[in-house]
Amino acid sequence: MMALPRPEILSMTEPQSADAAAFAEARERYRREREKRIRPDGIAQFQDMTGDLAAFDRDPFADPELTREPVDEEVEVLVMGAGFAGMLTAINLKAHGVHDVRILDKAGDFGGTWYWNRYPGCMCDVESYTYLPLLEETGYMPTEKYASASEIFEYCRLMGRHFDLYPHALFSTVVEDAEWDEAAGRWHVTTSRGDHLRARFFVTAGGILAKAKLPGIPGIGDFRGAAFHTSRWDYDVTGGGPTEPMDRLGDKRVGIIGTGATAVQVVPQLATTAREVYVFQRTPSAVGERNNGPTDVDWFRSLEPGWQAERIRNFTQVVTGAQPEVNLVGDGWTTAMWEDTHVKVDDPEEAARLERSDFETMEGLRRRVDEIVEDPETAEQLKPWYGKHCKRMCFHDEYLPAFNRPNVHLVDTDGRGVERVTPTGVVAGGQEHPIDVLVFASGYEVTTELASRLGFDPRGRGGLSLTERWSDGPHTLHGVLTAEFPNLLMIGIAQAGFGTNFLHFLAESAKHVAWIIAACEREGVATIEATPEAEEDWWAVLREQSRLIAGYSAHCTPGYYNNELSFDEKTARNLVYTGSILDYAGFLERWRAAGDFPGAAVVTG
Ligand code: NDP
Repeated sequence: MMALPRPEILSMTEPQSADAAAFAEARERYRREREKRIRPDGIAQFQDMTGDLAAFDRDPFADPELTREPVDEEVEVLVMGAGFAGMLTAINLKAHGVHDVRILDKAGDFGGTWYWNRYPGCMCDVESYTYLPLLEETGYMPTEKYASASEIFEYCRLMGRHFDLYPHALFSTVVEDAEWDEAAGRWHVTTSRGDHLRARFFVTAGGILAKAKLPGIPGIGDFRGAAFHTSRWDYDVTGGGPTEPMDRLGDKRVGIIGTGATAVQVVPQLATTAREVYVFQRTPSAVGERNNGPTDVDWFRSLEPGWQAERIRNFTQVVTGAQPEVNLVGDGWTTAMWEDTHVKVDDPEEAARLERSDFETMEGLRRRVDEIVEDPETAEQLKPWYGKHCKRMCFHDEYLPAFNRPNVHLVDTDGRGVERVTPTGVVAGGQEHPIDVLVFASGYEVTTELASRLGFDPRGRGGLSLTERWSDGPHTLHGVLTAEFPNLLMIGIAQAGFGTNFLHFLAESAKHVAWIIAACEREGVATIEATPEAEEDWWAVLREQSRLIAGYSAHCTPGYYNNELSFDEKTARNLVYTGSILDYAGFLERWRAAGDFPGAAVVTG
């Protein structure tokens, strides 16, 4: 998954079973749908929220009047990012006795994703008992199996208080520059608020899906109505709030571009509050049953110490097809992903069986559309024709029913996408749809250059920028250390872990980063960075692992999982570890257990 190196398009095995004709038909349908969506511009089809579109990136939640004196200080560790990754890094550092930590964030509070994403209906699709970190340590009991974004954001603030992180934080502060000062052996970081911060270790924990993107279609800047990205929801326009129904859309025609995991949560909220809703679809999501409900208090209180680590581990095992003896979470994810169907197997019969299993899962989801959506033409357009590992699967009980409402209109673009925005509407299929409020549920940059996603270009030894060092794509050890950038520790997605439960990956990364820093302090290590040889060894591990799924992914419709099916070698190096997070964590654990920083260039003194 994600930015695969150019795969051999595997010739898929011939169907063996009696219903070979149905398979052949479905396979042909998958192929046609994929072909329809392939674009020569790949990830270049999007644009970021800068220049003429900079207003899209305004923080609607922060206090615009906030002022503070610039900070000039030296700390042991500077962490950029106050989301879960940054918070967990600081918490782990404190546990190791490293307290001299400063945390910076562009956002106005802790929370990261959950600070920015306050769109109506926003929730986490991974169950709260597995997703929310450190529940045993904080003693917090989530109110529901799937927590709302508001509850998660509040939990982030609770973590900030519980672990005494607030005194460490500088919010509404954007890093503008970061340079390694060789003589001082410190990172020198400057910010939008005139701060000068020097730190021995610099941790970038800027988020995985943090930099919102807009479709690269003409006319967005000319739109005269209100327009915003889902991660910057404008409640001044819509009325209401994250926990209050929107009350200013009753006379408005609202358009929403995109039908991914975010839109699936937003559309039902728009459906019940706007006069008309136009959902512009390029590729439908696969939407299974959610079945949310309140936490069973007796059950929660009966959980034995250590339960959460076990549950997190169990969830990852189940959704990566390890098929453990018990399925503790027992939800849509764990049912749909019980069998890992995207691994390459040599036995043709087993390959055919896996393909059939994948097809059956998706057939079930397509049948669900027919069962719920009353208009047959709309139902047909809402059916996903791709494999179950191709896009993030969604689970929602109100999304499909929303299309039965007379005010909700699916504008299916037959894989081509919206063509342009006019001052008064959206053009798709050559037809203009008049719109008053336009919502972009168009996702995030994932495989663009790290400097683009960080918002600055770190400079390492001799002023070398990360963009220069990575001119042919990322080079890292475990996605964390990189050569020529001493004491820079990255928590991000390039060459690191990935999986259904992002928190599992972030928690393992934060643990690792904090361990490295604490070990360096303990052992008098002045600088640590990857060796180029270790970077190549890790790249070989990533490539080898990815071969197991490259064929599957190449057959998928384009999206951020497969880098929009563009396979240039540079972006391919953003490849994640495509095996289980548990296996990725195993690499990190073994590396730590070795005790002598294998593959790292270390200078003591
Ligand atoms: P996605 O990247 O998944 O979706 C973007 C959507 O915009 C797609 O439907 C895409 O179509 C569409 N799009 C892009 N360009 C055009 C165009 N020109 N015309 C029409 N449509 C267009 O972004 P999301 O914000 O939905 O989700 C991103 C990720 O965020 C998820 O995969 C998930 O990891 C995370 N997330 C997690 C949630 C959770 O509960 N844990 C909830 C929400 C999001 P196409 O598919 O054809 O490219």
